[in-house]
Amino acid sequence: MVSRVIPVDVFDLVIFGGTGDLARRKILPGLYRRFMAGQMPADSRIIGAARADLTDDAFRDQVRAAIAEFAPKARQDAAVIDAFVARIHYVAIDATGTSGWAKLTGMMRDNVVRAFYFSVAPSLFGDIASRLHDHAIADPWSRIVVEKPFGRDLASARALNEVLARHFTEAQIYRIDHYLGKETVQNLMAVRFANILFEPLWKAEYIDHVQITVAETVGVNGRGAYYDTSGAMRDMVQNHMMQLLCLIAMEPPYHFDPDAVRDEKLKVIRALKPVPPENIVRGQYAAGGNESGYLDHSENPASRTESYIALKVHVSNWRWQGVPFYLRTGKRLRARASEIAITFKQPPHAIFDDAKGWHENVLVIRLQPNEGMNLMVMIKEPGPGGMRLMQVPLDMSFADAIDDGEDVPDAYERLIMDVIRGNQTLFMRGDEVEAAWAWTDPIIEGWETRGDRPQTYDPGSSGPEDALMLMHRDGRRWREIKE
Ligand code: NAD
Repeated sequence: MVSRVIPVDVFDLVIFGGTGDLARRKILPGLYRRFMAGQMPADSRIIGAARADLTDDAFRDQVRAAIAEFAPKARQDAAVIDAFVARIHYVAIDATGTSGWAKLTGMMRDNVVRAFYFSVAPSLFGDIASRLHDHAIADPWSRIVVEKPFGRDLASARALNEVLARHFTEAQIYRIDHYLGKETVQNLMAVRFANILFEPLWKAEYIDHVQITVAETVGVNGRGAYYDTSGAMRDMVQNHMMQLLCLIAMEPPYHFDPDAVRDEKLKVIRALKPVPPENIVRGQYAAGGNESGYLDHSENPASRTESYIALKVHVSNWRWQGVPFYLRTGKRLRARASEIAITFKQPPHAIFDDAKGWHENVLVIRLQPNEGMNLMVMIKEPGPGGMRLMQVPLDMSFADAIDDGEDVPDAYERLIMDVIRGNQTLFMRGDEVEAAWAWTDPIIEGWETRGDRPQTYDPGSSGPEDALMLMHRDGRRWREIKE
Protein backbone atom coordinates (compact mmCIF):
# COMPACT_ATOMS: atom_id res chain seq x y z
CA MET A 1 0.00 0.00 0.00
CA VAL A 2 1.41 3.40 -0.97
CA SER A 3 0.58 6.33 1.29
CA ARG A 4 -1.96 8.70 -0.21
CA VAL A 5 -1.06 12.34 -0.68
CA ILE A 6 -4.02 14.63 -0.23
CA PRO A 7 -3.60 17.92 -2.09
CA VAL A 8 -3.77 21.24 -0.28
CA ASP A 9 -4.63 24.75 -1.49
CA VAL A 10 -2.01 27.14 -2.83
CA PHE A 11 -0.28 28.78 0.13
CA ASP A 12 2.23 31.36 1.26
CA LEU A 13 3.97 30.18 4.42
CA VAL A 14 5.98 32.83 6.22
CA ILE A 15 8.46 31.36 8.71
CA PHE A 16 9.47 33.91 11.32
CA GLY A 17 12.77 32.58 12.62
CA GLY A 18 13.44 30.96 9.22
CA THR A 19 17.19 30.95 9.90
CA GLY A 20 16.84 29.35 13.34
CA ASP A 21 17.57 25.87 14.58
CA LEU A 22 14.02 24.51 14.42
CA ALA A 23 13.46 25.80 10.89
CA ARG A 24 16.75 24.30 9.75
CA ARG A 25 16.29 20.90 11.39
CA LYS A 26 12.58 20.28 11.05
CA ILE A 27 10.42 22.82 9.23
CA LEU A 28 12.39 23.36 6.00
CA PRO A 29 13.50 19.73 5.43
CA GLY A 30 9.92 18.69 6.21
CA LEU A 31 8.50 21.07 3.64
CA TYR A 32 11.00 19.76 1.11
CA ARG A 33 9.71 16.24 1.65
CA ARG A 34 6.12 17.37 1.19
CA PHE A 35 7.18 19.18 -1.99
CA MET A 36 8.82 16.01 -3.20
CA ALA A 37 5.66 14.04 -2.43
CA GLY A 38 3.76 16.43 -4.72
CA GLN A 39 1.85 18.07 -1.91
CA MET A 40 2.96 21.66 -2.47
CA PRO A 41 0.79 23.09 -5.23
CA ALA A 42 2.44 25.12 -8.00
CA ASP A 43 2.66 28.79 -7.02
CA SER A 44 2.94 28.07 -3.31
CA ARG A 45 5.77 29.94 -1.63
CA ILE A 46 7.81 29.74 1.54
CA ILE A 47 9.07 33.04 2.86
CA GLY A 48 11.82 33.01 5.46
CA ALA A 49 11.68 36.02 7.78
CA ALA A 50 14.42 36.58 10.32
CA ARG A 51 16.84 39.12 11.64
CA ALA A 52 19.85 38.35 9.44
CA ASP A 53 20.33 40.51 6.36
CA LEU A 54 20.21 37.91 3.58
CA THR A 55 19.32 37.85 -0.10
CA ASP A 56 16.87 35.26 -1.42
CA ASP A 57 19.81 33.34 -2.84
CA ALA A 58 21.78 33.38 0.39
CA PHE A 59 18.76 32.03 2.27
CA ARG A 60 18.22 29.40 -0.44
CA ASP A 61 21.79 28.25 0.16
CA GLN A 62 20.96 27.85 3.85
CA VAL A 63 17.89 25.80 2.91
CA ARG A 64 20.00 23.58 0.62
CA ALA A 65 22.42 23.03 3.47
CA ALA A 66 19.54 22.17 5.84
CA ILE A 67 18.17 19.61 3.36
CA ALA A 68 21.63 18.10 2.88
CA GLU A 69 22.03 17.71 6.62
CA PHE A 70 18.56 16.77 7.78
CA ALA A 71 16.51 15.27 4.92
CA PRO A 72 16.95 11.50 4.38
CA LYS A 73 19.89 10.85 2.07
CA ALA A 74 17.77 8.65 -0.20
CA ARG A 75 15.44 11.59 -0.74
CA GLN A 76 18.07 14.09 -1.86
CA ASP A 77 17.56 14.77 -5.54
CA ALA A 78 19.38 17.76 -7.06
CA ALA A 79 16.63 18.61 -9.58
CA VAL A 80 13.90 18.43 -6.94
CA ILE A 81 15.97 20.55 -4.55
CA ASP A 82 16.45 23.19 -7.28
CA ALA A 83 12.71 23.28 -7.97
CA PHE A 84 11.98 23.48 -4.24
CA VAL A 85 14.35 26.35 -3.45
CA ALA A 86 12.93 28.30 -6.40
CA ARG A 87 9.76 28.59 -4.26
CA ILE A 88 11.70 30.12 -1.40
CA HIS A 89 12.06 33.82 -0.63
CA TYR A 90 13.47 35.82 2.21
CA VAL A 91 12.77 39.03 4.00
CA ALA A 92 15.01 40.51 6.70
CA ILE A 93 12.67 41.67 9.41
CA ASP A 94 12.82 43.03 12.92
CA ALA A 95 10.02 41.55 14.97
CA THR A 96 10.28 44.32 17.54
CA GLY A 97 10.92 47.22 15.16
CA THR A 98 9.82 48.58 11.80
CA SER A 99 12.30 47.22 9.27
CA GLY A 100 11.12 44.61 6.79
CA TRP A 101 7.39 44.90 7.43
CA ALA A 102 6.59 47.05 4.39
CA LYS A 103 8.46 44.60 2.18
CA LEU A 104 6.54 41.65 3.62
CA THR A 105 3.26 43.52 3.13
CA GLY A 106 4.14 44.01 -0.54
CA MET A 107 4.81 40.29 -0.96
CA MET A 108 1.36 39.14 0.16
CA ARG A 109 -1.02 37.77 -2.48
CA ASP A 110 -4.79 37.49 -2.48
CA ASN A 111 -6.67 34.23 -2.80
CA VAL A 112 -4.01 31.99 -1.32
CA VAL A 113 -3.79 30.49 2.17
CA ARG A 114 -1.60 32.70 4.35
CA ALA A 115 0.14 30.92 7.19
CA PHE A 116 2.63 32.44 9.61
CA TYR A 117 4.90 30.15 11.59
CA PHE A 118 6.22 31.81 14.76
CA SER A 119 9.47 29.84 15.09
CA VAL A 120 10.92 32.44 17.43
CA ALA A 121 11.13 32.95 21.18
CA PRO A 122 7.64 33.29 22.75
CA SER A 123 8.58 36.80 23.96
CA LEU A 124 8.27 37.87 20.29
CA PHE A 125 4.79 36.40 19.69
CA GLY A 126 2.97 39.57 20.71
CA ASP A 127 5.21 41.84 18.61
CA ILE A 128 4.76 39.72 15.51
CA ALA A 129 1.01 39.24 15.98
CA SER A 130 0.40 42.98 16.35
CA ARG A 131 2.56 43.86 13.34
CA LEU A 132 0.82 41.28 11.16
CA HIS A 133 -2.42 42.96 12.12
CA ASP A 134 -1.26 46.59 11.87
CA HIS A 135 0.20 46.08 8.40
CA ALA A 136 -2.89 44.14 7.28
CA ILE A 137 -0.57 41.24 6.38
CA ALA A 138 -2.88 38.75 8.09
CA ASP A 139 -6.39 38.43 6.72
CA PRO A 140 -9.33 36.79 8.52
CA TRP A 141 -8.44 33.44 6.93
CA SER A 142 -4.78 33.54 7.93
CA ARG A 143 -3.36 30.99 10.33
CA ILE A 144 -0.60 31.41 12.86
CA VAL A 145 1.48 28.55 14.20
CA VAL A 146 3.13 28.86 17.60
CA GLU A 147 5.80 26.69 19.14
CA LYS A 148 6.42 25.40 22.60
CA PRO A 149 6.98 26.42 25.31
CA PHE A 150 3.51 27.89 25.62
CA GLY A 151 4.08 29.66 28.91
CA ARG A 152 5.89 28.44 32.01
CA ASP A 153 2.86 28.56 34.30
CA LEU A 154 -0.83 29.36 34.14
CA ALA A 155 -0.34 33.13 34.38
CA SER A 156 2.19 33.32 31.53
CA ALA A 157 0.15 30.94 29.32
CA ARG A 158 -2.92 33.12 29.89
CA ALA A 159 -0.91 36.20 29.02
CA LEU A 160 0.27 34.57 25.77
CA ASN A 161 -3.27 33.52 24.90
CA GLU A 162 -4.44 37.08 25.51
CA VAL A 163 -1.70 38.56 23.35
CA LEU A 164 -2.60 36.29 20.44
CA ALA A 165 -6.35 36.75 20.95
CA ARG A 166 -6.00 40.50 20.46
CA HIS A 167 -5.54 39.97 16.73
CA PHE A 168 -6.45 36.35 15.98
CA THR A 169 -9.45 34.16 16.71
CA GLU A 170 -8.97 30.74 18.31
CA ALA A 171 -9.79 29.17 14.92
CA GLN A 172 -6.70 30.87 13.48
CA ILE A 173 -4.24 29.76 16.18
CA TYR A 174 -2.32 26.48 15.81
CA ARG A 175 -0.38 25.59 18.97
CA ILE A 176 2.13 22.90 18.04
CA ASP A 177 2.72 19.82 20.13
CA HIS A 178 4.72 17.71 17.72
CA TYR A 179 3.90 14.52 19.64
CA LEU A 180 0.39 14.79 18.19
CA GLY A 181 1.87 14.68 14.70
CA LYS A 182 3.46 11.28 15.29
CA GLU A 183 2.02 8.44 13.27
CA THR A 184 1.59 6.05 16.18
CA VAL A 185 -0.06 8.67 18.36
CA GLN A 186 -2.74 9.07 15.74
CA ASN A 187 -2.79 5.34 15.32
CA LEU A 188 -3.71 5.09 18.98
CA MET A 189 -6.94 6.90 18.16
CA ALA A 190 -7.55 4.65 15.15
CA VAL A 191 -7.00 1.53 17.26
CA ARG A 192 -9.33 2.78 19.97
CA PHE A 193 -12.13 4.18 17.86
CA ALA A 194 -12.10 2.28 14.58
CA ASN A 195 -12.24 -1.18 16.21
CA ILE A 196 -14.83 -2.81 18.38
CA LEU A 197 -12.17 -4.96 20.05
CA PHE A 198 -10.54 -2.51 22.43
CA GLU A 199 -13.08 0.04 23.57
CA PRO A 200 -15.22 -2.39 25.63
CA LEU A 201 -12.06 -3.26 27.63
CA TRP A 202 -10.81 0.31 27.85
CA LYS A 203 -11.75 1.00 31.47
CA ALA A 204 -10.94 0.38 35.10
CA GLU A 205 -12.66 -2.99 35.07
CA TYR A 206 -10.11 -4.42 32.62
CA ILE A 207 -7.07 -2.14 32.70
CA ASP A 208 -4.63 -2.53 35.57
CA HIS A 209 -2.43 0.47 34.88
CA VAL A 210 -0.84 2.62 32.20
CA GLN A 211 2.84 3.54 31.84
CA ILE A 212 4.04 6.43 29.72
CA THR A 213 7.80 6.72 29.26
CA VAL A 214 9.80 9.33 27.40
CA ALA A 215 13.47 8.51 27.94
CA GLU A 216 16.35 10.41 26.39
CA THR A 217 20.05 9.59 26.35
CA VAL A 218 21.16 13.17 25.76
CA GLY A 219 21.78 15.59 28.60
CA VAL A 220 21.03 19.30 28.65
CA ASN A 221 24.40 20.03 27.02
CA GLY A 222 24.72 23.73 26.27
CA ARG A 223 21.11 24.47 27.17
CA GLY A 224 21.57 24.46 30.94
CA ALA A 225 20.63 28.11 31.43
CA TYR A 226 17.35 27.62 29.58
CA TYR A 227 16.65 24.26 31.20
CA ASP A 228 17.04 25.73 34.66
CA THR A 229 13.97 27.85 33.93
CA SER A 230 12.08 24.77 32.82
CA GLY A 231 12.86 21.24 34.07
CA ALA A 232 11.30 17.94 33.03
CA MET A 233 7.85 18.74 34.41
CA ARG A 234 7.44 21.88 32.33
CA ASP A 235 9.45 20.69 29.34
CA MET A 236 7.81 17.27 28.86
CA VAL A 237 4.97 16.44 31.24
CA GLN A 238 2.75 19.52 31.03
CA ASN A 239 2.61 19.27 27.24
CA HIS A 240 3.69 16.09 25.44
CA MET A 241 2.97 13.50 28.12
CA MET A 242 -0.27 15.22 29.06
CA GLN A 243 -1.40 14.98 25.43
CA LEU A 244 -0.58 11.26 25.33
CA LEU A 245 -2.44 10.70 28.57
CA CYS A 246 -5.45 12.55 27.15
CA LEU A 247 -5.59 10.40 24.03
CA ILE A 248 -5.53 7.25 26.14
CA ALA A 249 -8.02 8.43 28.72
CA MET A 250 -10.53 10.49 26.72
CA GLU A 251 -14.08 9.42 25.96
CA PRO A 252 -14.88 8.71 22.30
CA PRO A 253 -15.53 12.06 20.58
CA TYR A 254 -18.74 12.16 18.52
CA HIS A 255 -16.64 12.81 15.42
CA PHE A 256 -12.96 13.21 14.51
CA ASP A 257 -13.47 16.91 14.49
CA PRO A 258 -11.17 19.52 16.08
CA ASP A 259 -13.46 20.74 18.79
CA ALA A 260 -15.03 17.36 19.49
CA VAL A 261 -11.60 15.84 20.11
CA ARG A 262 -10.30 18.79 22.08
CA ASP A 263 -13.44 18.96 24.24
CA GLU A 264 -12.85 15.37 25.29
CA LYS A 265 -9.15 15.97 26.01
CA LEU A 266 -10.03 19.01 28.09
CA LYS A 267 -12.40 16.90 30.23
CA VAL A 268 -9.54 14.51 31.00
CA ILE A 269 -7.20 17.31 32.05
CA ARG A 270 -9.88 18.77 34.29
CA ALA A 271 -10.41 15.34 35.86
CA LEU A 272 -6.76 14.94 36.85
CA LYS A 273 -6.37 14.73 40.61
CA PRO A 274 -3.78 16.84 42.40
CA VAL A 275 -0.64 14.74 42.91
CA PRO A 276 0.55 14.27 46.52
CA PRO A 277 4.31 14.52 47.18
CA GLU A 278 4.66 10.76 47.78
CA ASN A 279 3.59 10.17 44.17
CA ILE A 280 6.32 12.39 42.71
CA VAL A 281 9.98 11.49 42.24
CA ARG A 282 12.38 14.06 40.83
CA GLY A 283 15.93 13.35 39.75
CA GLN A 284 19.02 15.10 38.49
CA TYR A 285 21.75 13.22 36.66
CA ALA A 286 25.21 13.08 38.17
CA ALA A 287 28.53 13.22 36.34
CA GLY A 288 29.83 9.84 35.24
CA GLY A 289 32.94 8.61 33.44
CA ASN A 290 34.17 11.46 31.27
CA GLU A 291 30.76 12.99 31.08
CA SER A 292 29.55 16.05 32.87
CA GLY A 293 26.57 16.02 35.19
CA TYR A 294 23.54 18.30 35.20
CA LEU A 295 25.12 20.80 37.57
CA ASP A 296 28.12 21.24 35.27
CA HIS A 297 25.75 22.73 32.70
CA SER A 298 23.77 24.87 35.06
CA GLU A 299 24.72 28.42 35.90
CA ASN A 300 23.48 27.73 39.41
CA PRO A 301 25.73 25.27 41.30
CA ALA A 302 22.87 24.57 43.70
CA SER A 303 20.22 24.15 40.99
CA ARG A 304 17.27 21.98 42.04
CA THR A 305 15.91 21.66 38.53
CA GLU A 306 14.84 18.12 37.71
CA SER A 307 16.20 16.39 34.62
CA TYR A 308 13.99 13.40 35.50
CA ILE A 309 10.50 13.08 36.89
CA ALA A 310 8.20 10.17 37.64
CA LEU A 311 4.61 10.67 38.71
CA LYS A 312 1.68 8.50 39.65
CA VAL A 313 -1.41 10.21 38.34
CA HIS A 314 -5.13 9.50 38.67
CA VAL A 315 -7.92 10.53 36.36
CA SER A 316 -10.84 11.09 38.62
CA ASN A 317 -13.82 9.90 36.61
CA TRP A 318 -16.05 6.89 36.21
CA ARG A 319 -14.01 5.14 33.52
CA TRP A 320 -10.62 5.36 35.26
CA GLN A 321 -11.53 4.92 38.91
CA GLY A 322 -8.50 3.42 40.68
CA VAL A 323 -6.33 3.01 37.56
CA PRO A 324 -2.89 4.60 38.05
CA PHE A 325 -1.15 6.31 35.16
CA TYR A 326 2.60 6.18 35.80
CA LEU A 327 4.52 8.82 33.86
CA ARG A 328 8.29 9.13 33.70
CA THR A 329 10.64 11.16 31.59
CA GLY A 330 14.30 12.01 31.88
CA LYS A 331 17.57 12.90 30.29
CA ARG A 332 20.82 10.89 30.24
CA LEU A 333 18.95 7.64 30.73
CA ARG A 334 19.89 4.18 29.55
CA ALA A 335 18.28 4.38 26.10
CA ARG A 336 16.29 6.68 23.88
CA ALA A 337 12.85 5.17 24.04
CA SER A 338 9.34 6.57 24.20
CA GLU A 339 6.35 4.35 24.65
CA ILE A 340 2.93 3.98 26.12
CA ALA A 341 2.12 0.62 27.69
CA ILE A 342 -1.41 -0.32 28.69
CA THR A 343 -1.44 -3.33 30.97
CA PHE A 344 -4.67 -5.29 31.22
CA LYS A 345 -5.89 -7.23 34.23
CA GLN A 346 -5.81 -10.97 34.77
CA PRO A 347 -8.59 -13.13 33.41
CA PRO A 348 -11.12 -13.70 36.22
CA HIS A 349 -10.34 -17.41 36.51
CA ALA A 350 -7.25 -19.45 35.60
CA ILE A 351 -8.02 -22.77 33.89
CA PHE A 352 -4.39 -23.62 33.08
CA ASP A 353 -1.96 -24.83 35.70
CA ASP A 354 0.98 -22.95 34.21
CA ALA A 355 0.64 -19.92 36.45
CA LYS A 356 4.34 -19.08 36.01
CA GLY A 357 4.06 -18.89 32.25
CA TRP A 358 1.21 -16.43 32.44
CA HIS A 359 1.75 -12.71 31.77
CA GLU A 360 -0.64 -9.83 31.43
CA ASN A 361 -1.86 -8.62 28.06
CA VAL A 362 -0.05 -5.39 27.29
CA LEU A 363 -0.70 -3.00 24.46
CA VAL A 364 2.58 -1.24 23.70
CA ILE A 365 2.54 1.88 21.57
CA ARG A 366 6.06 2.77 20.59
CA LEU A 367 6.75 6.40 19.65
CA GLN A 368 10.51 6.25 19.17
CA PRO A 369 12.92 5.19 17.95
CA ASN A 370 10.86 2.74 15.88
CA GLU A 371 7.23 3.76 15.69
CA GLY A 372 4.88 0.82 15.98
CA MET A 373 2.37 -1.08 18.08
CA ASN A 374 2.41 -4.47 19.72
CA LEU A 375 -0.24 -6.34 21.58
CA MET A 376 1.27 -8.89 23.93
CA VAL A 377 -0.98 -11.96 24.01
CA MET A 378 -0.78 -15.41 25.58
CA ILE A 379 -0.61 -18.50 23.43
CA LYS A 380 0.27 -22.14 23.96
CA GLU A 381 3.97 -22.86 23.74
CA PRO A 382 4.32 -24.94 20.58
CA GLY A 383 5.20 -28.64 20.84
CA PRO A 384 4.39 -31.49 23.17
CA GLY A 385 4.69 -31.33 26.94
CA GLY A 386 1.28 -30.25 28.07
CA MET A 387 -0.36 -26.86 28.15
CA ARG A 388 2.49 -24.46 28.76
CA LEU A 389 1.84 -20.80 28.11
CA MET A 390 3.96 -18.16 26.46
CA GLN A 391 3.60 -14.50 25.69
CA VAL A 392 4.03 -13.35 22.08
CA PRO A 393 3.73 -9.95 20.44
CA LEU A 394 0.98 -9.42 17.91
CA ASP A 395 2.61 -6.84 15.67
CA MET A 396 0.24 -4.07 14.71
CA SER A 397 2.86 -1.80 13.18
CA PHE A 398 2.06 0.19 10.12
CA ALA A 399 5.67 0.14 8.92
CA ASP A 400 5.26 -3.13 7.05
CA ALA A 401 1.96 -2.05 5.58
CA ILE A 402 3.52 0.58 3.37
CA ASP A 403 6.12 0.16 0.65
CA ASP A 404 8.70 2.56 1.88
CA GLY A 405 8.95 3.70 5.48
CA GLU A 406 10.80 6.83 4.37
CA ASP A 407 7.61 8.15 2.80
CA VAL A 408 5.89 8.32 6.17
CA PRO A 409 5.71 12.04 6.92
CA ASP A 410 7.48 13.17 10.03
CA ALA A 411 5.39 14.86 12.73
CA TYR A 412 6.24 18.39 11.63
CA GLU A 413 5.42 17.72 7.98
CA ARG A 414 2.03 16.37 8.84
CA LEU A 415 1.22 19.20 11.20
CA ILE A 416 2.28 21.93 8.76
CA MET A 417 0.07 20.40 6.08
CA ASP A 418 -2.81 20.34 8.57
CA VAL A 419 -2.28 24.07 9.10
CA ILE A 420 -2.58 24.66 5.36
CA ARG A 421 -5.70 22.48 5.25
CA GLY A 422 -7.16 24.41 8.17
CA ASN A 423 -7.51 21.33 10.36
CA GLN A 424 -6.91 22.03 14.07
CA THR A 425 -7.62 18.55 15.41
CA LEU A 426 -3.98 17.84 16.25
CA PHE A 427 -3.26 21.25 17.78
CA MET A 428 -3.82 22.34 21.35
CA ARG A 429 -6.64 24.72 22.11
CA GLY A 430 -6.01 27.65 24.43
CA ASP A 431 -8.25 26.31 27.20
CA GLU A 432 -6.50 22.92 27.08
CA VAL A 433 -3.10 24.52 27.60
CA GLU A 434 -4.41 26.61 30.47
CA ALA A 435 -6.06 23.61 32.12
CA ALA A 436 -2.80 21.67 31.83
CA TRP A 437 -0.94 24.48 33.59
CA ALA A 438 -3.66 24.74 36.23
CA TRP A 439 -2.91 21.10 37.13
CA THR A 440 0.88 21.52 36.84
CA ASP A 441 1.35 24.73 38.83
CA PRO A 442 0.43 23.38 42.30
CA ILE A 443 2.71 20.37 41.78
CA ILE A 444 5.68 22.62 41.07
CA GLU A 445 4.72 25.10 43.79
CA GLY A 446 4.50 22.16 46.19
CA TRP A 447 8.10 21.04 45.75
CA GLU A 448 9.34 24.62 45.66
CA THR A 449 7.59 25.44 48.94
CA ARG A 450 8.81 22.26 50.59
CA GLY A 451 12.33 22.93 49.29
CA ASP A 452 12.58 19.39 47.86
CA ARG A 453 15.85 18.44 46.22
CA PRO A 454 15.92 16.09 43.26
CA GLN A 455 17.53 12.72 43.87
CA THR A 456 20.80 12.15 42.03
CA TYR A 457 20.91 9.35 39.46
CA ASP A 458 23.71 7.82 37.46
CA PRO A 459 23.95 8.71 33.80
CA GLY A 460 23.04 5.73 31.64
CA SER A 461 20.76 4.31 34.37
CA SER A 462 16.97 3.96 34.51
CA GLY A 463 16.62 6.96 36.80
CA PRO A 464 16.54 7.48 40.58
CA GLU A 465 15.99 4.58 42.99
CA ASP A 466 12.85 6.15 44.40
CA ALA A 467 11.21 5.97 41.00
CA LEU A 468 11.52 2.18 41.16
CA MET A 469 9.88 2.26 44.57
CA LEU A 470 6.97 4.29 43.21
CA MET A 471 5.99 1.17 41.30
CA HIS A 472 7.29 -1.51 43.66
CA ARG A 473 5.17 -0.37 46.54
CA ASP A 474 2.12 -0.92 44.31
CA GLY A 475 3.36 -4.40 43.38
CA ARG A 476 4.20 -3.31 39.84
CA ARG A 477 7.32 -2.76 37.79
CA TRP A 478 8.44 -0.25 35.21
CA ARG A 479 9.06 -1.72 31.81
CA GLU A 480 12.69 -1.89 30.86
CA ILE A 481 13.98 1.20 29.03
CA LYS A 482 15.48 -0.15 25.82
CA GLU A 483 15.73 0.81 22.19
P1 NAD B 1 16.93 29.97 17.34
O1 NAD B 1 17.50 30.84 18.39
O2 NAD B 1 17.80 28.97 16.67
O3 NAD B 1 16.34 30.90 16.19
C1 NAD B 1 15.63 32.07 16.47
C2 NAD B 1 15.19 32.72 15.18
O4 NAD B 1 14.48 33.91 15.54
C3 NAD B 1 16.33 33.16 14.26
O5 NAD B 1 15.93 32.93 12.92
C4 NAD B 1 16.42 34.65 14.51
O6 NAD B 1 16.88 35.40 13.39
C5 NAD B 1 14.99 34.99 14.77
N1 NAD B 1 14.85 36.21 15.57
C6 NAD B 1 15.32 36.44 16.82
N2 NAD B 1 15.01 37.72 17.19
C7 NAD B 1 14.35 38.28 16.15
C8 NAD B 1 13.79 39.56 15.89
N3 NAD B 1 13.83 40.55 16.80
N4 NAD B 1 13.19 39.77 14.71
C9 NAD B 1 13.14 38.80 13.78
N5 NAD B 1 13.64 37.56 13.95
C10 NAD B 1 14.24 37.32 15.11
O7 NAD B 1 15.64 29.30 17.98
P2 NAD B 1 14.98 27.88 17.62
O8 NAD B 1 15.70 26.82 18.36
O9 NAD B 1 14.83 27.74 16.15
O10 NAD B 1 13.56 28.01 18.33
C11 NAD B 1 12.49 28.76 17.79
C12 NAD B 1 11.23 28.50 18.59
O11 NAD B 1 10.90 27.14 18.49
C13 NAD B 1 11.37 28.80 20.10
O12 NAD B 1 10.12 29.24 20.59
C14 NAD B 1 11.68 27.43 20.67
O13 NAD B 1 11.28 27.33 22.02
C15 NAD B 1 10.83 26.56 19.79
N6 NAD B 1 11.28 25.17 19.71
C16 NAD B 1 12.51 24.86 19.22
C17 NAD B 1 12.89 23.54 19.13
C18 NAD B 1 14.22 23.16 18.56
O14 NAD B 1 14.46 21.97 18.45
N7 NAD B 1 15.07 24.08 18.21
C19 NAD B 1 12.02 22.52 19.54
C20 NAD B 1 10.76 22.86 20.02
C21 NAD B 1 10.40 24.19 20.10
